[in-house]
Amino acid sequence: MKVLIIGSGVAGSEAGTYLGHHATEPLEVVEVECEPGRRFGGWAFQSFPDTETTNLALRKMYLGRDPEEISRWFDDPEVRASWPEAYREVRFSVDRPVPRALVQRYIEWRRSQVHNPLVTYSHVSGEAMRVRQRCHDAVSVELRSGRVLEADALIMASGSIAVKVPPYLEAWRDHERVVIDPLVLEGHQRRQSIPPDARVLILGTGLTGEEQANILYRRGHEALTLLSRNGHRHYTYDQDQHNQPLSLDHAPDLMHAETPEEFDQGLSDFYTRFLTQGHSREDILAALRPLWGDVRANLGGCYQTAQVLRRFRRSLAVNSIGVSHEVAAQLEQAEADGALRVVRGHIHDITEDRGSFHVKYDPDGPDSGEELRTLEVDWIVNAVGRNIIRHPIWEGLLRDGLAKKHAGIGVRVSEDGQLMDADGDASDVIWVVGMARAGDHALRHGFLGNTAFNVPQVREHLYDTMDAMLGRPCPTHTNRLEEVLFKITHHGRDARLVHGDETPLIWAVSEGYSEIALALVEAGASLDARNSRGNTALIRAACEGRLALARALVSAGADLDVQNEDGYTAVILARRRGHSHIVEFLLEAGAQTHHTTRWGTSFTDPGSSPKSPLLGPRDEHLEADILHTLGA
Ligand SMILES: Cc1cc2nc3c(=O)[nH]c(=O)nc-3n(C[C@H](O)[C@H](O)[C@H](O)COP(=O)(O)OP(=O)(O)OC[C@H]3O[C@@H](n4cnc5c(N)ncnc54)[C@H](O)[C@@H]3O)c2cc1C
Repeated sequence: MKVLIIGSGVAGSEAGTYLGHHATEPLEVVEVECEPGRRFGGWAFQSFPDTETTNLALRKMYLGRDPEEISRWFDDPEVRASWPEAYREVRFSVDRPVPRALVQRYIEWRRSQVHNPLVTYSHVSGEAMRVRQRCHDAVSVELRSGRVLEADALIMASGSIAVKVPPYLEAWRDHERVVIDPLVLEGHQRRQSIPPDARVLILGTGLTGEEQANILYRRGHEALTLLSRNGHRHYTYDQDQHNQPLSLDHAPDLMHAETPEEFDQGLSDFYTRFLTQGHSREDILAALRPLWGDVRANLGGCYQTAQVLRRFRRSLAVNSIGVSHEVAAQLEQAEADGALRVVRGHIHDITEDRGSFHVKYDPDGPDSGEELRTLEVDWIVNAVGRNIIRHPIWEGLLRDGLAKKHAGIGVRVSEDGQLMDADGDASDVIWVVGMARAGDHALRHGFLGNTAFNVPQVREHLYDTMDAMLGRPCPTHTNRLEEVLFKITHHGRDARLVHGDETPLIWAVSEGYSEIALALVEAGASLDARNSRGNTALIRAACEGRLALARALVSAGADLDVQNEDGYTAVILARRRGHSHIVEFLLEAGAQTHHTTRWGTSFTDPGSSPKSPLLGPRDEHLEADILHTLGA
């Protein structure tokens, strides 16, 4: 199998590493990254600027499934010997943030730990521009150079892809004293060339804006202005980020606020209550997470929630993730020194006069009627943010109907992480990890700040998505018998099959592979596992009229009275399908008859829906192989 990964940031690199550790059949991993310096780091952890630490504490920055690994890595003398001199003697406690430059080394080290002879890696330097799904089990990607790469599966890990350029800056895109994207090498170099006595305007007070101000201040700049529309600032992480778990009885009703102001007040009251008890903002948000389902239900479902999240996005973002203590302390110092001022205002226009920019802005919002003010600056650094899907690669997928935008941010994915097409069907070959799942996280996992994304959120979905991808039938599987053989061999007798999330036992009972079903029961397969519709093997046996299998399941201990998603039990369904011999047997075995389904049917009034039994295709060799694998 050949897998292509677009983007080698945290998500893309880790996807490749995890596949490397877990592949059980030959796997060729091809990684495509457009900026070589970002390999194993992406935007945030590339080697420039390496002056700062992460905003999260060390214990939250781990990758993989072992939270202790990162501490061991940081403490390992052999590893330390390979670090830049400045860090070798520093002690990193688990509560302290870590230098960005070391995160990239950690991600790279994790890859070096893959020793799987079945897996090969290759790296392609280039920008992926166009994805084409050739059929349901193959995909091709065209690079800017015109080169076309083909694969059996594609992992989209392109992160926050394109810099946002506000309309008033469009005309100055190519100006030599404007840094459009400070996170790319060219922008970094241009920022480094700003003379220390220059008056610099940094647009945006988000994490990137504050980081840019900090880098400049540390270089000796003394005339910095940070400007944003509403003056929102992220909160500051403590230098030591202790965690004090919190549990809440019920969700706050702030999501019902009518206006952003009302919402801000509600959020602030909510935080204040628990902050004064010593909890961190992260702990408070984490406590909300289990209640997210209630919040969503109260608001009227996914769509309504997305609308609300969109309205209150800025507040949620600035309150859900903070600036590192180090950056905040420096900026406080810069403000106290008079080297930095923070201004709030909506920019009206920017003109140039005798070598300086005149930035006209309205402090009270656009068209407030107030007199415009003017800032005079020499340089402008754009830090208003990034867009996740504004790039030809996503635009093509959206145009072709292979992807669907998420209401809030990113694209829609299935629970397993497959890209969803315009009709809402999950792709067989395209998987999504990293930031393009920000919106999905916001709704599915209850991360309230849907514009902020970090390493723990990448970790939250990445490994499960890779497990789901590895667990899919290999593209050479032409039928479910092959899939069952593969799954039982590699993942055991209770592995889940792709269609209907069935165990091999539910499949065998449903499709009439009696010998295999009996062998599975004999081998100790889980009797009461349910498929995606809540059916157990016994419910399926009752439905399909398979008396011998129903007997075997019951005598092995299967639960007689499980209700499926619609509320049907085995005995109601057997009656509804007209299998009187099974009804008789189940009643004798003690099945209950008082259940009612969500459609109002019951044992006494089951309705009638006779159907001919399902029979899967026969293949004596494959069936014999499955029986052999089960030890029958
Ligand atoms: C300034 C800054 C500071 C941050 N600080 C922290 C922090 O301290 N802690 C924390 O947990 N999180 C932090 N984050 C957030 C963190 O970066 C992200 O959550 C995480 O890196 C997302 O990983 P990713 O792999 O999805 O995306 P990215 O890191 O954006 O990686 C995507 C990669 O894909 C490549 N790529 C994109 N398009 C293409 C294409 N078409 N062809 C080829 N390659 C392509 C890009 O070059 C990039 O290397 C920060 C982010 C920023 C911007």
